[in-house]
Amino acid sequence: MPRDEFQFIDRLRQRTPFRPPVRLGIGDDAAVLDHPAGTVEVVTTDLLMEGVDFLWPQTSAALIGRKSLAVNLSDLAAMAARPTAAFVSLALPRQRGRQFADELMDGLLALADEFEVTLAGGDTNSWDGPLVVSVTVLGTPSRNQPVLRSGAKPGDWIFVTGACGGSLAGRHLTFTPRLTEAARLTELVALHAMIDISDGLAADLHHILDESGVGAVLNAAAIPIHADVGPLTDGRSRLDHALGDGEDFELLFTVAVEDGPRLLSAWDLATPLSQIGTITSDRRCRMYCVDGSVVDLPPLGWSHPLGG
Ligand code: ADP
Ligand code: MG
Repeated sequence: MPRDEFQFIDRLRQRTPFRPPVRLGIGDDAAVLDHPAGTVEVVTTDLLMEGVDFLWPQTSAALIGRKSLAVNLSDLAAMAARPTAAFVSLALPRQRGRQFADELMDGLLALADEFEVTLAGGDTNSWDGPLVVSVTVLGTPSRNQPVLRSGAKPGDWIFVTGACGGSLAGRHLTFTPRLTEAARLTELVALHAMIDISDGLAADLHHILDESGVGAVLNAAAIPIHADVGPLTDGRSRLDHALGDGEDFELLFTVAVEDGPRLLSAWDLATPLSQIGTITSDRRCRMYCVDGSVVDLPPLGWSHPLGG
């Protein structure tokens, strides 16, 4: 390993205090984590590749590092888990040098600090290819019980946090993973099913429906459309963008009908919650449009000239 790489890892090590359950993080051949008997652990991993998941130099190294961790934290939020330890493997483009690597990790570590995740290990290599970043995050589910995609029941209310659509304008790099919201939700209600919106509201709803063996009816007027969608320019409705754009990293979840109103009145965080529909026992996915019509809602979102 080149000397530069040792210095890079050394600096990461100095910047990374171990927080429980990490007993030993960067510095040995493997990390050591305490694991109380009977506890469940949640693990998620994502691989981000230059040219596919981000472009450089259009995207700064710091934002690439931030997003690489943020997408994993969003997955943990979707399981209602609190992140504990992160592992980061880098294939660094040799010609970009040390500063690029430092800036990448600055962005990643700032987000790790915000959510008190310990960078507990990883691997650092360099080559003549583009940047590849692999991040793995471990977490502990609230009440020792992760929330799965498969728990939605007929009659459940369907909720979404925040607003959807238009994230490609920049929000897909700067979003805050909904960890705080997920933790608060588990204090207030029993979550039946949950997913984070990466593919798009409609597509990710279909993941819940498929895993749970149920259907849904959405109310188009209730779907929160992000201000980033802006005015119509591309012939697609604003609603279509909210349903299909993806990378919103909002939480989509269901709760029992009796918990729905209770959740809305007890909700005390700044992030809005919207009830956008109901789970049904048939396997269809439909949507009530603003003009009173009912349409089938396929996984890839939906186009309607009168929508939203
Ligand atoms: P080994 O050769 O035994 O795999 P390395 O020299 O690759 O060890 O890594 C030394 C230590 O630095 C290990 O604890 C490893 O987990 C950590 N490490 C290496 N690269 C990174 C990185 N990008 N982020 C966090 N930890 C890293
Ligand atoms: Mg190694």
